[in-house]
Amino acid sequence: MTSGRPDPAPTYAQQQLRAGTTAAGLRHLLQYIQSEPAVGQALALIDTSELGGPLDEAGLQLLLHEAEAEHDRCAALAERDARRQEAGHLHGAACTCGHSDTLHTRHMTEDDRLPCNHPDCLCHDLAFVLR
Ligand SMILES: [Zn+2]
Ligand SMILES: [Zn+2]
Repeated sequence: MTSGRPDPAPTYAQQQLRAGTTAAGLRHLLQYIQSEPAVGQALALIDTSELGGPLDEAGLQLLLHEAEAEHDRCAALAERDARRQEAGHLHGAACTCGHSDTLHTRHMTEDDRLPCNHPDCLCHDLAFVLR
């Protein structure tokens, strides 16, 4: 929102229109779910508390993009933590390249590597010296 003023409260007529539109969309969706249970199963996987707007195609694409990015980020962080714990180090421990594990990428490469993000560092995969 760019204007500092809060939106005026919607009138009942506007609320009625909105509720009617939502209900129409939900009825349509429920018909699909009843004839196509796989649609319902797919929808059940979506956490609606993450939704910030309509569930249209653009909204779904955005959600998908965010979910994939979050998945990648967490996969990289989980891998980082697993490697660090395996080597018996604490959070923030240094990689063999000398930089902290937190300086390494949060996006796993195609071939499951975690390169260092530090400029000029040639470290191509996070590794710890075993304790
Ligand atoms: Zn490194
Ligand atoms: Zn490094």
